[in-house]
Amino acid sequence: MTNWEFSLACAKKLDENDNLRSFRDQFHFPSFSENYLVYFTGNSLGLQPKLTKSYVLKELDEWAKWGVDGHTNAERPWMPYHELFTEKIATLVGAKPHEVAVTHSLTTNLHLLMVSFYRPEGKRCKILCEKKAFPSDQYALQSQLKFHGFDPDKDLIEVGPRQGEYTIRTEDVLAKIEEYSDEISLIMIGGVNYFTGQVFDMKKITEAGHKVGAMVGFDLAHGAGNIILNLNEWKVDFATWCSYKYLNSGPGGVSGYYINEDHVTNEEIPRFAGWWGHNKEDRFKMPDKFSPIPTAESWQLSNAPVISMAAHLASLELFEKAGMQNLRAKSIQLTNFLEFIINEINKDSTINLEIITPKNEAERGCQLSIVAHGAEKKLFTELTKQGVVSDWREPNVIRIAPVPLYNNFEDVYRFGLILQNALKL
Ligand SMILES: *Cc1c(COP(=O)(O)O)cnc(C)c1O
Repeated sequence: MTNWEFSLACAKKLDENDNLRSFRDQFHFPSFSENYLVYFTGNSLGLQPKLTKSYVLKELDEWAKWGVDGHTNAERPWMPYHELFTEKIATLVGAKPHEVAVTHSLTTNLHLLMVSFYRPEGKRCKILCEKKAFPSDQYALQSQLKFHGFDPDKDLIEVGPRQGEYTIRTEDVLAKIEEYSDEISLIMIGGVNYFTGQVFDMKKITEAGHKVGAMVGFDLAHGAGNIILNLNEWKVDFATWCSYKYLNSGPGGVSGYYINEDHVTNEEIPRFAGWWGHNKEDRFKMPDKFSPIPTAESWQLSNAPVISMAAHLASLELFEKAGMQNLRAKSIQLTNFLEFIINEINKDSTINLEIITPKNEAERGCQLSIVAHGAEKKLFTELTKQGVVSDWREPNVIRIAPVPLYNNFEDVYRFGLILQNALKL
């Protein structure tokens, strides 16, 4: 970091030294503009791998060729299609193969998992979450509480930042867990906050939750494919994520979930069941009693959405080739370079750019969230006009996310030039 400069030469040098640089060519970059576009919105919708089209077309061809027999006769038979993800996803989130499955959508999975892991009893009925959780998570938590006859205003405990701070201190989360101890049934937190980009200490929070007898789950929409996860080692009870953000699997793409091995074979745990969770051996004998597969797959309701899964498979092959550890190492450098350039620009700017994402590498993924004091949304509008694809989150935050799989250091430099220009207006 010591010899970095805000220059094209420096950016190019960093790109030359990047072993992952060729992955950029494997993606379609939006072509609606003639100008150099800086795509920094992989945290919202990841770009399309060039491989995806052939994977999706392949399944359409199989369907055309085989009709219903594609379930067994397709080159990648549809009946066990979801099993193609087991190893890949387990590696990606640090789980054992029998702890993960891929199907449904994220908020759906969140609800299904809460059916199993939010089981209020007596005074132990509260849910603890972070303040300003993603709206869908808030709605899911509130509606779960109401479903069980509780009052979200009283029984949803939120931990927020201290006065004048943006991010939430781990010690404050732990203190809140301690404070409510035997009243907490479930702790459910967005492991990486969508607004600030803060990564929570999932290991410590899980330990603290278990100590007071609560279940602990994480929404990893902003974690999967962004940071290193060790869900099994951290003993997290459950987690779920989507595949269309950092995992580049297309709008509304299938979600994945994790359930700790201690729970997957426990038939006492209540759940909503469907035929795809039933034992594979006699599923097609159509028995009238549910007998769960002894893995996380038993939480599957429906047969595999193969077309959407084909896109997911194409993308995961790239992750496998690149390796999550390598991606994370590049990601740290890329985001540090972005931070360096923003700070350089800030030195001469009358508008104060405040990065509200934690400085500590362990507490952030690739995203930086910026508050432009004195410019607010005008700056975002100007950045957009000049070719930066980023996003705006009310009331005052610009989120930018250089992703290591397809962004490069030159993107970061170009972003800096545009930012410098935009600030003059
Ligand atoms: C993106 C995101 C969602 C979106 O949920 P869907 O069910 O996929 O629409 C939910 N929660 C979090 C934390 C998110 O970041």
